Amino acid sequence: MAEIIDGKAEAQRVKDETAVAVEKFRADFGVAPGLATVLVGDDAASATYVRNKRRSCAKVGIESLHHELPASTGQGEIMRLVRELNSRSDAHGILVQLPLPDSIDSREVLNAISPDKDVDGLHPVNQGRLLAGEDGMRPCTPLGVMRLLERCGVELKGARAVVVGRSLLVGKPVAMMLLEQHATVTLCHSRTRDLADEIGRADVLVAAVGIPEFVKGEWVRPGSTVIDVGINRLDSGKLVGDVAFAEASERAAFITPVPGGVGPMTVAMLLANTLTAARRQESNAGGGGR
Ligand code: NAD
Repeated sequence: MAEIIDGKAEAQRVKDETAVAVEKFRADFGVAPGLATVLVGDDAASATYVRNKRRSCAKVGIESLHHELPASTGQGEIMRLVRELNSRSDAHGILVQLPLPDSIDSREVLNAISPDKDVDGLHPVNQGRLLAGEDGMRPCTPLGVMRLLERCGVELKGARAVVVGRSLLVGKPVAMMLLEQHATVTLCHSRTRDLADEIGRADVLVAAVGIPEFVKGEWVRPGSTVIDVGINRLDSGKLVGDVAFAEASERAAFITPVPGGVGPMTVAMLLANTLTAARRQESNAGGGGR
């Protein structure tokens, strides 16, 4: 039976570490780290996500500067807000909650965020920095995945890692981060042939597909580590991952549950990223106090 990787506990550890580091930041610079959140429209799930992020900020001492705009807001107005936030020294991080209304060109909005304030790590400059192995803002969910792997002590050097899903948000960046840690990475996607064989060779499997229980237990390599990024709500209301958890946990050595695995890590890493962004900006602004 696999050992369950407790994402909730690890997320709490990240938050506790961040709260201590925020205290030190305030002492060093005389200001609080600040995260600007932008919510456009009245999507209930998005509103809940933003509320949770702001609540988590407050718990670790990060100020949140919240902006709520109606669904009818035009591209120009959102772009102006992003530019204003770019120039505000108290907004160290900027988070535009996705999805934006259909009438809005999301890519243009995300690309307008200053890369140094891009705490979601989705700006092409930050994706490029990841590819180049340079310091930059890394996307939160992949960071959370890497932290969970570190926590369970899995040797990544030389390991065969298989990532299923090639999104900009999860699959591609997590593949680059695994490569950075010297794993031999195979990036699988919807056109991959013989997916079960690919997964069967994985010492480390990261599933980010968005299809409930897509990865069957019998595909999983015995003794492997399985990180399930998927969050899928069934008609019954139950949340399940992209991996058939019960079957897979009979073969894997370590496995993340859904919920309570990668999910809680994403917000925790957002807080950590905001602090990193704040420290870089305040240090560049000339050290202690403005
Ligand atoms: P996405 O839809 O952008 O990408 C899905 C990927 O899966 C694509 O690259 C596609 O090629 C691949 N895919 C689709 N069908 C496939 C198939 N039959 N075989 C192999 N690959 C296939 O999704 P995403 O944004 O990367 O999210 C993936 C999942 O992770 C979703 O369930 C999402 O809810 C979840 N997610 C969770 C968190 C978190 O905080 N835990 C964060 C982001 C996304």
